[in-house]
Amino acid sequence: MSTAYLNGRFLPLSQARISIEDRGLLFADAVYEVVCVARSRGVDLGAHLDRLWRSLQALGMSSPCSRRVLLLLLKQIIVCNRLRYGSIYLQISRGSASRAHAFPPTSCKANIFMVASHGSPPAASPMRITAVTLADTRWARVDIKTTNLLPNCLGLEEARVRGADEVIFYDSASEIMRESSKSNLWMLSSDNRLLTHPRTSNILGGVTRAAVMELALKNGITYKQEAFTRKQAYEAHELFLTSSTGFVSIINKLDGHSIGEGVSDNGANSIARKLYELYLAKLQA
Ligand code: PLP
Repeated sequence: MSTAYLNGRFLPLSQARISIEDRGLLFADAVYEVVCVARSRGVDLGAHLDRLWRSLQALGMSSPCSRRVLLLLLKQIIVCNRLRYGSIYLQISRGSASRAHAFPPTSCKANIFMVASHGSPPAASPMRITAVTLADTRWARVDIKTTNLLPNCLGLEEARVRGADEVIFYDSASEIMRESSKSNLWMLSSDNRLLTHPRTSNILGGVTRAAVMELALKNGITYKQEAFTRKQAYEAHELFLTSSTGFVSIINKLDGHSIGEGVSDNGANSIARKLYELYLAKLQA
């Protein structure tokens, strides 16, 4: 039985209960993080906590515990669950109060919980997936990691209905590609430039995106934070996604267009694969 953490207590997941007046439940008035666990260590914990603090600040919320305590709790839940590979979901809501749009009084205490999920060690090769594009109908502050994810869920379901694994949101006015329902998007363009969307309020600043940028720099792989269009994506040599739980995954079909067709080594020498291997080495270090 998995052990959860809820408002100051570690307890069996089946006993973890929260009020039906929780504002996260009623208004998606909550922020979250998903931290990858590899070899029983939280990956990029510092960067996740930095982003959590930015999200809390953006919503005018404060953490129910200090950063130091949160770090200890994250480490503790890994130990309690004997987690070697997997992830931890952490959520903080503004708290439970009678339903009203206005913020509750400051005496209302935030609700915090964490749940651990067991996974497997990463595979030797990156995952290969298919994707479809969908006009981005999410709210204008997707850089804040809130639980307001209904458009992401609907988009993913639309992808499933269309026979694909993932959805890529694009701006319908400019045709600029943004990100997937749960990952950041990268492209090796037809003229061999490695690009990813600039860090604006239209994408989430991914922790893995930043880690991959650092690995790229260290290994002489040049990239640019530059927007690209759907048409450029169809013609790309490579398209790939980065996220904490998916690491680096390759998109081999977008809206039915085969990506990187004609690459004779079947992607063995692709930049995505190189970045995946560098990322695995970082996880195993
Ligand atoms: N973009 C979106 C919309 C996400 O939900 C996520 C992860 O949850 C990411 C990008 C990737 O972020 P990270 O690398 O921090 O997991």
